[in-house]
Amino acid sequence: MISLKRPREIELMREAGRLVAHAHRLIRGMIEPGVSTHEIDAVVESLFTEAGATPLFKGVPGKVPFPSVCCISVNEQVVHGIPGPRRVEKGDIVKVDTGCRLNGWCGDSAWTYAVGDIDPLKQRLMKIGEENLYLAIRECGRRKRWSEVAQAMELHVREAGFSVVEQFVGHGIGREMHEDPQVPNFVSSQLKRHDFRLEPGLVLAIEPMVNAGTKNVRVLKDHWTVETKDKKPSVHFEHTVAITAAGPEILTLPEKIP
Ligand code: MG
Ligand code: MG
Repeated sequence: MISLKRPREIELMREAGRLVAHAHRLIRGMIEPGVSTHEIDAVVESLFTEAGATPLFKGVPGKVPFPSVCCISVNEQVVHGIPGPRRVEKGDIVKVDTGCRLNGWCGDSAWTYAVGDIDPLKQRLMKIGEENLYLAIRECGRRKRWSEVAQAMELHVREAGFSVVEQFVGHGIGREMHEDPQVPNFVSSQLKRHDFRLEPGLVLAIEPMVNAGTKNVRVLKDHWTVETKDKKPSVHFEHTVAITAAGPEILTLPEKIP
């Protein structure tokens, strides 16, 4: 069941969103050749701890509980990469996804960062992925139903010659990180049955995942890391977005942090 949030609740979600945005500002500043994915995770963990926030990803149940505060996925890794000793290199693209709960309300955001100069394919993939997220947010202010937004997103990726990951989707967010509805980045048969209205009070984590090659993915032996089957690169961009009477509002926008 979809729970719409009152303006006062969205105000609290803004605070959680701001903290996640702050994490991304710190992450952006750390991205350079030689930094390990564990070092990035540790900085975000400290930030959340000092702010009195609870990380949302650490301990998420699976065959093994997710061990870290961030999911960090490099190049052909799509989502759910586990931070560790790996040091990123010039030419890599690094996806960092993180979220926290602050005063009972959640924020969730992912971004793809380039390490130094990256090849033209990765450049174009990053451009299309970021455009896809902002296109979706814009369309939320113009359309009545999510299926219309998903259709525009799918078309944008397809016209670029890339593919939309179908196994993972966005989600409603509020007191819990994953609430109803499911928010696919394409028009699925499931969406046709469970389409939803874009109305004030709806808060969504919108998170397109775009692959350079095949849409197909597999999970590695660590039980978490998802990579593309053809090992071609993938990008991921996510914001927590509230639909308000004045239109869509991004709650996790790093630019708004002083
Ligand atoms: Mg996320
Ligand atoms: Mg999410």
